[in-house]
Amino acid sequence: MAPVASSKHFDYLIIGAGSGGIASAKKAASFGAKVAVIESGPIGGTCVNVGCVPKKIMFCAASIKEVLDHDARANYGFDFNEPTFNWPKLKQARDAYIKRLNGLYISGLDKVDVTTILGSAKFKSATEVEVEGTHAGVYSAERILIACGGRPKTLGIPGEELAIDSDGFFLLEELPKSCCVIGAGYIAVEMAGILNALGCETTLVIRKEKVLRSFDETISEILTEEIKSSGIKLVTNATPKKLFKNGDGSLGVETAAGTLDNFQVVLNAIGRIPNTDRLSLDKCGVAVDKDQHVIVDEYQRTNVDSIFSLGDCTGKWLLTPVAIAAGRRLSRRLYNKETDLKLEYHNIPTVVFSHPPIGTVGYTEQEAVDLFGRDNLKIYKTTFTNMYFAMSERKQKTTMKLICLKTQNEKVIGLHMIGLNCDEMLQGFSVAVKMGATKAQFDDTVALHPTASEELVTMT
Ligand code: FAD
Ligand code: NDP
Repeated sequence: MAPVASSKHFDYLIIGAGSGGIASAKKAASFGAKVAVIESGPIGGTCVNVGCVPKKIMFCAASIKEVLDHDARANYGFDFNEPTFNWPKLKQARDAYIKRLNGLYISGLDKVDVTTILGSAKFKSATEVEVEGTHAGVYSAERILIACGGRPKTLGIPGEELAIDSDGFFLLEELPKSCCVIGAGYIAVEMAGILNALGCETTLVIRKEKVLRSFDETISEILTEEIKSSGIKLVTNATPKKLFKNGDGSLGVETAAGTLDNFQVVLNAIGRIPNTDRLSLDKCGVAVDKDQHVIVDEYQRTNVDSIFSLGDCTGKWLLTPVAIAAGRRLSRRLYNKETDLKLEYHNIPTVVFSHPPIGTVGYTEQEAVDLFGRDNLKIYKTTFTNMYFAMSERKQKTTMKLICLKTQNEKVIGLHMIGLNCDEMLQGFSVAVKMGATKAQFDDTVALHPTASEELVTMT
């Protein structure tokens, strides 16, 4: 990393070297702009350090364990002694991998002449930012991008400090013997699934009846049932009221449904808040909403002409590829004269690395009914056992659903699936949905056999 002068003027100054900030920085620099990114933590942001990447490694470990525990020895013919799992060894290898990625991100920025400023940024005016830390100083720019991401929301109840959050999950030195996960969203179901598969006695505490309530109802219902049958203890209608510590150091949770006790770890995963509170936004006049998300228009513009924002801190689709896509498009618009370019925030595919995984794109059934009316929809649904389980003792089901608009030639406007490998199936099908494919075009596509994805082109 090159040395940085403590006062410098740039074309484009970016707060946050995470998914969105880095993508936007590199794209702008490729068009000749003089760019700097300011970062207070490790380069790469949430995704690389405490998000997608370490999570996916843990999901892979959990999936391997499931195969060893449930499938390999059944009728697949393998014979071996009880497998042992070494959490510290996996953590060490995972941390080393992430450290390599941090290095690659820094050199990637260096290569395209993006200046990396290490420190914590806050606004001095609409064109100036003050940095505290390694590269302390005042930096100015024609344009500033707020891509500061977010952090886990705290529980807001007595004893909340006794819980770890998703950042703390990646610091655990050992697999906990028992864990109570609080939350019903992406992180709660993913981390509960990982812990359970790896052998931790896992309890999942949710406020309502089902997990992932913002997803298509079929997906939400099936995952809730799968969680119950996976060995996770699911406690429903249990809004947490208080956390407490027992004399022996174990932890308990008082909930609306009673007291849950004797956990080694309590993991809070109830959502995230934007890091905007640390930016002195009053100094530049950028407006935020009631949850402190930066308010932007469809072109990622804030209410202040020189300032833009994207990614998690804007509160829409908190996903790495969304931050990256918005960041690249913004830079192409600002520095390559692609004047109307913007990210379309519809038909964004998303996967959940639950057990089993989920893939979904487009409208949920309820959204489609509300928008178009039940009579204008045709819904196709199939449930089957993936051939992988033919030789296995467990018979996990896959469910797929297509939501089609009758008035537009049965255009597919929603595709939802849960089951083995659905995470890997979605990307290609999301291209088709984005292009406006109809059910007839799905049917006209020759199937791949024997796969689970062929069911999506053979549904009647
Ligand atoms: P970030 O990547 O969070 O980057 C923001 C950066 O700004 C940070 O590095 C921060 O340190 C820095 N910063 C903040 N304030 C300042 C300041 N004042 N000065 C200087 N620097 C500052 N998404 C997926 O698509 N797939 C997944 O599988 C997935 N898994 C996830 C798992 C977990 C546990 C979590 C927490 C998130 C996951 N996500 C996943 C979401 C994904 O990580 C985020 O959507 C993505 O990282 C957002 O990118 P961003 O650029 O908006 O913010
Ligand atoms: P989510 O927004 O996904 O879910 C949080 C859930 O917690 C809420 O939906 C709510 O569910 C429940 N909740 C909220 N407040 C409380 C409370 N006070 N007590 C108990 N439960 C509460 O947040 P996450 O933290 O799971 O994840 C943040 C974001 O990160 C995700 O939205 C996603 O965009 C991204 N992410 C993406 C991943 C991926 O792509 N695979 C993986 C991980 C994260 P209810 O109302 O039903 O109680």
